[in-house]
Amino acid sequence: MEYPYEVPRPEKQFAAVFDTNKCIACQTCTVACKNTWTAGRGQEYMFWNNVETKPFGSYPLAWDFKLLQKIGGGSWRGNVYTGKTIFEKAREEGHENAVGIFPELEDWAYPNIGEDEIFGGEVEQGMHINSLPHMMWFYYLARICNHCTYPGCASRCPRKAIYKRQEDGIVLIDQKRCHGYKQCNEGCPYKKAMFNAHTGRSEKCLGCYPKVEKGLTTQCMEACIGKIRMQGWLNTPENAEEDNPLDYLVHVRKLALPLYPQFGTEPNIYYIPPINVPVPFLKQMFGPRVEKAVLNYREALRHDKVLQGLITLFGSSPQIISRFKMNNDKTYGYNDKGTQVATVPIQEPKHIRKPFDKNLEVYRTDIT
Ligand code: SF4
Ligand code: SF4
Ligand code: SF4
Repeated sequence: MEYPYEVPRPEKQFAAVFDTNKCIACQTCTVACKNTWTAGRGQEYMFWNNVETKPFGSYPLAWDFKLLQKIGGGSWRGNVYTGKTIFEKAREEGHENAVGIFPELEDWAYPNIGEDEIFGGEVEQGMHINSLPHMMWFYYLARICNHCTYPGCASRCPRKAIYKRQEDGIVLIDQKRCHGYKQCNEGCPYKKAMFNAHTGRSEKCLGCYPKVEKGLTTQCMEACIGKIRMQGWLNTPENAEEDNPLDYLVHVRKLALPLYPQFGTEPNIYYIPPINVPVPFLKQMFGPRVEKAVLNYREALRHDKVLQGLITLFGSSPQIISRFKMNNDKTYGYNDKGTQVATVPIQEPKHIRKPFDKNLEVYRTDIT
């Protein structure tokens, strides 16, 4: 793949792994970001963090479906992508940068469309599904800017107002340089660059860089109720380090995959795919390696203490965890300075409550 505006890889790359199996769509992450960054005029419609229900949800409407159609659906030979990326498609059409879609205002108006809508039929009362994948399914996909290695947004900006920071790989729009041409809105395949009609400039997730500079996790990561997120630093596959949680999940165990790798921007938010969803659907979203990733995850939950411990470490500290270690059935997380900032048991202790509470003289029903 060729990228029209080559930039050197940053010294460190802001990245995260989201475990889709744990997300409950509580939208706490969405609200945490909204309250912090997009509560002003012109930002009413913006959700830099959003959580959509797949297969029917999307914000903006049909963002992924429309772009996949535009680049020709995308094809694979084994694990190798043989279709066109957004950059290659642009070359084919005679432009210099990246193809994209530009959503209409109306398309942004339904961030919760399709929420909890099931694919594959109706679930009736008392129904019990006990095989994987499920014949009726949906799942929640939390999305922020991917702080891509090859940002589609930056490739389209005629003002060169979008830049990728060398120190952490966070992609930002310089508000002083932006003239509001909205090219980045179209060029971002994930629709994470948005136009503010009040200021006349474009805006996007800024990776909560003031927190990241202090070694802290972002607002959306810290607030996550389901503890589905692990933020950290990601190396390239050749430089992967086994005690780096993200390298371990992405490169060593290949459990976490990029969203729509077909687009060609090398996104840096990775997903552990949902195990309840049929593989053909997952393949078009995460690529062909998804089948193995799902099997590995299911296996890990049963037998693999390292992965069990690492997954339990998600969301366990407001500090960025850049190293982890296992010892005596516990997992330890360390920050960039090597200070221990989290300790979690691999198996949570179980407390079984008796149905009858003698002190209060009440019966409690266990509904789980
Ligand atoms: S997700 Fe979009 S806005 Fe974010 S860096 Fe990639 S192309 Fe740019
Ligand atoms: S990283 Fe910060 S700015 Fe980006 S979506 Fe999360 S809370 Fe919002
Ligand atoms: S806070 Fe976490 S669990 Fe809740 S919707 Fe966001 S990503 Fe999912």
